[in-house]
Amino acid sequence: MIMTSVIDALARHIDRARVVADGPELDAAAAVWNGAVSHRPALVVRCETTAEVRHAIRVARESGLPLSVRSGGHDWAGRAIRAGGLVIDLTRMRHVTVSGNVATVAGGATSADVAEAADRQGLAVATGTVGTVGMLGLSLGGGYGPYNGCFGLAADNLLAAEVVLADGRVVQADTELLWALRGGGGNFGVVTSADVALHPLAEVLAGSFIYPWEQAEQVLRGYGELLEGAPDALTSTIAVVAGPEGPTVVVSPTWSGPPPTEPLSSTGSPRSAHL
Ligand SMILES: Cc1cc2nc3c(=O)[nH]c(=O)nc-3n(C[C@H](O)[C@H](O)[C@H](O)COP(=O)(O)OP(=O)(O)OC[C@H]3O[C@@H](n4cnc5c(N)ncnc54)[C@H](O)[C@@H]3O)c2cc1C
Repeated sequence: MIMTSVIDALARHIDRARVVADGPELDAAAAVWNGAVSHRPALVVRCETTAEVRHAIRVARESGLPLSVRSGGHDWAGRAIRAGGLVIDLTRMRHVTVSGNVATVAGGATSADVAEAADRQGLAVATGTVGTVGMLGLSLGGGYGPYNGCFGLAADNLLAAEVVLADGRVVQADTELLWALRGGGGNFGVVTSADVALHPLAEVLAGSFIYPWEQAEQVLRGYGELLEGAPDALTSTIAVVAGPEGPTVVVSPTWSGPPPTEPLSSTGSPRSAHL
């Protein structure tokens, strides 16, 4: 009964067909990247505009429903879905426009949406490594990726944000709120749109080197020495990965810009090397 009145209240400003409250459609709307997340919300509201986000927040507050925000749905713990709550689903808000070296990104745009829009202008953006991750979900939490060395974290590239606050006000983030958004996660309001810095980048060299476990100490030491003096153009990750023949060490470097003419470092003998 309560839910009927909540749906009626939402439907005053949001198409009722975009309010999902039961059945298999709710299961589908609540599904996130981590299939082990099993908690279910009371309803999912597929918002298309800032005004609709604002209305959904107001209805949740007035009806006492807990609230969560869903963008790319890649949070491992499924925090985009609030058990028994109202989910503001931003996945229909994926618009990206580019003007000069700035992309204006709607709240539900994926990293790939932004990277592709930037690429069409010959520009690059600091994202993570997976295109389906939400651009703002990534940026609000920090956002490490292959361009960190030269462009910083995704959060460092967040220039401005339109935010709907818990009291329903729509604000352009001031200096203090923007500081909090850059790494503070989705705790300060719903970011419906943000400006993200783009960068010219003509060349990228990337790859991976897989070393057998017997060389782990040598490779880890060599990697540490390399990174101590590494130029900003080099961003690299290192991981110990389980394989059929036991653990391996995988080094994945990205070089942004014209490749170096001299070798930077040499260590071990990789089992496989791809550039
Ligand atoms: C396969 C995979 C690969 C990944 N790779 C990387 C990587 O390379 N680098 C990296 O740094 N991280 C990576 N991550 C982690 C990922 O960046 C975070 O989990 C991120 O928060 C996911 O954002 P999302 O929008 O996709 O997820 P969601 O689950 O939709 O959102 C994550 C959190 O952010 C909040 N949120 C999202 N959008 C908004 C918004 N517009 N306004 C307010 N709050 C919002 C949500 O409420 C939720 O609490 C990866 C995760 C996965 C599953």
